[in-house]
Amino acid sequence: MTTEQKDTITEMRKQGYTYAKIAETLAISENTIKTYCRRTRLNEYTVATVPVCKQCGKPIEVKAKHREKQFCSDLCRAAWWYANRGSKHRTEYRLICANCGQPFVSVGNKARKYCSHQCYIAARFGGDCRG
Ligand SMILES: [Zn+2]
Ligand SMILES: [Zn+2]
Repeated sequence: MTTEQKDTITEMRKQGYTYAKIAETLAISENTIKTYCRRTRLNEYTVATVPVCKQCGKPIEVKAKHREKQFCSDLCRAAWWYANRGSKHRTEYRLICANCGQPFVSVGNKARKYCSHQCYIAARFGGDCRG
C-alpha cells in the first residue's frame, strides 16, 4: 500500500465509508483494508464519537461506565441552562390525564397523555390507576 492509499483509507473511514466502498475506490482487497484498519485502530473512528461539551465544544473526558456527560464542567452546564432557559424545552403544558382524568403538568412535552407511568400502563392494559 502507498502512503496515499493509507491516507485515503483513513479519510474514508472517518467519513463512515464501508470497507467494501473503500476497497472498490482504491481497487484493493477488502481484507487488506480490514486488516489495515484493525492494525491502525481505525475502526474506533466510526464507533466512538468523542462527546463534546454542549456549551464550549471542548471534548469531554468520559470515564468508563459513566453516564454520557453533556458538559465539560459545572460552569458550562450552568452557562448552558442560563442561556437556554425559557426555551421550548422548558415549557410547561397543563394537560388532562387520558386515564384518570386528573390535570397534570408536563414539562417540554405537549404530547403526553398520562399523568404517570401507572396510568399509561392502566390505560394500555386495563385496570384503574387510582387503585
Ligand atoms: Zn465546556
Ligand atoms: Zn392519571
